Amino acid sequence: MNNVFVYCEIEGTTVADVSLELLTKGRKLANQLGCRLEAVVAGNGLDGIEKQVLPYGVDTLHVFDAPGLFPYTSLPHSSVLINLFKEEKPQICLMGATVIGRDLGPRVSSALTSGLTADCTSLEIGNHEDKKAGITYENLLYQIRPAFGGNIVATIINPEHRPQMATVREGVMKKEILDAGYKGEVVKHDVAKYVPVTDYVVKVIDRHVEQAKHNLKGAPIVVAGGYGVGSKENFNLLFDLAKELHAEVGASRAAVDAGFCDHDRQIGQTGLTVRPKLYIACGISGQIQHIAGMQDAGIIISINNDENAPINTIADYVINGTVEEVLPKMIKYYKQNTK
Ligand SMILES: Cc1cc2nc3c(=O)[nH]c(=O)nc-3n(C[C@H](O)[C@H](O)[C@H](O)COP(=O)(O)OP(=O)(O)OC[C@H]3O[C@@H](n4cnc5c(N)ncnc54)[C@H](O)[C@@H]3O)c2cc1C
Repeated sequence: MNNVFVYCEIEGTTVADVSLELLTKGRKLANQLGCRLEAVVAGNGLDGIEKQVLPYGVDTLHVFDAPGLFPYTSLPHSSVLINLFKEEKPQICLMGATVIGRDLGPRVSSALTSGLTADCTSLEIGNHEDKKAGITYENLLYQIRPAFGGNIVATIINPEHRPQMATVREGVMKKEILDAGYKGEVVKHDVAKYVPVTDYVVKVIDRHVEQAKHNLKGAPIVVAGGYGVGSKENFNLLFDLAKELHAEVGASRAAVDAGFCDHDRQIGQTGLTVRPKLYIACGISGQIQHIAGMQDAGIIISINNDENAPINTIADYVINGTVEEVLPKMIKYYKQNTK
């Protein structure tokens, strides 16, 4: 009762990375609150799924295994969570800010009248004093996210209603196995008790899943370009450098909007979150919406012709110059040094 729950997304029989990241966060929140971490998986052919989930410190794994639960459709998965939560009364529920989470989260929260904060960038536990009512609420979930176009960081709380629900995008939290041999309980539920047959009205006849064209999220080195790169042709310099460094190419939104680079490479608040060992920012000014997606990089190198560019304040190394003059030299000397 009143535990932290994470809804784990399944693709086939594999738990999505974003869910594992949320289990790591959920474990920390549960430790702070002194409660248990519970996870929910719903799909088909889930024998052995606990091996993927329990090592993240999950105390109870709820398994819903039935032919109609994979591929995901809205109604059965909503019924699973709504009816389980009516029994278990979680205090917190986390899920990925993915296509599935964005569909499922609002359905569950509106059925339970709980409220939900989408796209959180940080989750913390804290108190809140309502001075007018003279009430102090303890151990609330601070649901932290950028608001008003990213100009402020808002902390959203939900003092009265439960569960406190939040979605988080992939890559924002860090995934860490707690203990490969962690002992948690596995509860296999009778799906028919939770999902009425009428929920299976939608049948998925055919599915096409497009594989990602790059591995920007997992790349140890990212060469990212901004509006200062100037053109799509100049972006080829970034691809050349990336090839030498075995890196991936990313971009700011301004570069994507200008057509210099594909949208799926955008980094930032409305793009991907990356944490490479090395981030080379080329012609990027460093607006807060961009920084939100790369500030956890190990080392940041900024190449910019403006020595006062905001990104320089968070960069470990600043190269003051134009992309056109600096990148060819980097490629040349890197090639020479690795011969
Ligand atoms: C709701 C919202 C969400 C957003 N989400 C994102 C997001 O996810 N990701 C994102 O990136 N942005 C996002 N933005 C946009 C963000 O506010 C900035 O507009 C954008 O990041 C600026 O991109 P930039 O740094 O490439 O361009 P600019 O700000 O135009 O900076 C260009 C930089 O290049 C330098 N420069 C110019 N010429 C050269 C040269 N030849 N060589 C070297 N340097 C040069 C300039 O000095 C400057 O520092 C969002 C905005 C909003 C309102």
